[in-house]
Parts: sequence; structure tokens; C-alpha cells
Amino acid sequence: MARVGLVGGTFDPVHIGHLILAECAREQLHLDWIEFVPANTPPHKAEDRVTDAKHRAAMVLAAIAGVPELRMNAIELERNGRSYTSDTLRMLTTTRPQDAFVFILGSDSLEDLPNWHEPDVIVGLAELAVVIRPGSSLDVQTVIRHVPGLANRWHRVQAPLMAISSTDLRTEIAAGRSVRFQVPEAVLTYIDEVGIYR
Ligand code: ATP
Repeated sequence: MARVGLVGGTFDPVHIGHLILAECAREQLHLDWIEFVPANTPPHKAEDRVTDAKHRAAMVLAAIAGVPELRMNAIELERNGRSYTSDTLRMLTTTRPQDAFVFILGSDSLEDLPNWHEPDVIVGLAELAVVIRPGSSLDVQTVIRHVPGLANRWHRVQAPLMAISSTDLRTEIAAGRSVRFQVPEAVLTYIDEVGIYR
């Protein structure tokens, strides 16, 4: 049986906050590997304009190239419509009964969990691993009040605080400012070559 970490996100673009989140969770929770799961139509961002999935997936692949413990899972890109984590976990646990899944997320996302589609299904099918993100507190007890199944199903992961967000990166790139070292070099090259975010 493998213990597999999942990092769901829009990755518009992927940045070192995502990579550090994955690596710290991998090590501290003894995960065999991590899968980045880019969302197709992210349910909570449906109104926003999201970069074409093929670019977001290409940036994830560029970011993790050559790191065997970091992988990409295109399951949500292969599915039409909204990307609900509960549906993704249903599919993964059904098709891969030999794997146990740990869903890794930032504290801002955990705070929002009660508003997600079928949060009780999510915590029933995966353990959660939470990393503190600057600008949000980690009030797990409040979340547990809304999603009781979360109790005893979550882990705190220690990681350096990273005040990096995809939204800020898009703004900086559009303004012509440097985001070097905030995204992996190969991702920067891709952004430059394709000309996205300008
Ligand atoms: P946006 O700014 O557009 O909301 P984002 O930077 O939050 O994007 P997502 O792809 O939405 O990136 O995030 C995927 C997951 O990674 C979420 O669980 C989020 O909480 C977590 N995450 C993103 N950035 C960080 C960070 N700097 N520190 C800790 N967790 C993070």
C-alpha cells in the first residue's frame, strides 16, 4: 500500500510555495510520492478568468521535471465540467484501492473547506495535511464544528511561511516586474516563451 499526497490547485502559475508545501508534507508524513492535480474548471474560481489548462499543466510538469517524488495527475483535466475534490477522490479511491490518499492544502483553503462541495466525503476518503499560509490562521476547531469528520483525520505540516500567491505573481508579471526565484526557472522560461500573464 502506498501513501500518496495530493495537492489540488489552479496552479496559475505553479510557484515555490506549492513545491515547498508538497516537499514538507512528503517528508513529515512519510508519503511515497506527491501528485499535483491541476483543476479544470476550479469551482470557486469559475467567475474568474483562468489560464488555459494546457499551459497550467505544462508549467506544473516543468516545475517537477526530474523529481521522481513529485508527479502530475491530469484526472481533473480529463473530466469535463467543474472540478470537485470529492469527485476526484471518489474516482481515485475506486480505481486505486492499493493507495491511501492524503490531501495537502494551505490553511486558507482549509478555512474554506466547509463551503466546498461535499466536505464530509472529502475527509471520509482522504486524510488532510495543512500548512500555515501567511494571512490566514489555523483554526481547525472551527472547521471541525462544520465538518465533524475532520477530527482525527488531519495533520499539521511545518513549513517555512511563504507569502507567495499565484494572483500576486500574475500581477507582478503583467506589470513587468521580476518574479525570478518565486517560480522555478523552467516555469519562468515557459511563461516568457508563451507570453502568458503579460
Ligand atoms: P491564487 O492566488 O490564484 O488563489 P494560489 O497561490 O492560492 O492561487 P492555488 O493553485 O489556488 O494557488 O493553491 C493550491 C493549494 O496550494 C491551496 O491549497 C493553497 O492553500 C496552497 N498554497 C498556495 N500557495 C501557498 C503558500 N504560499 N503557502 C502555503 N500554501 C499555499
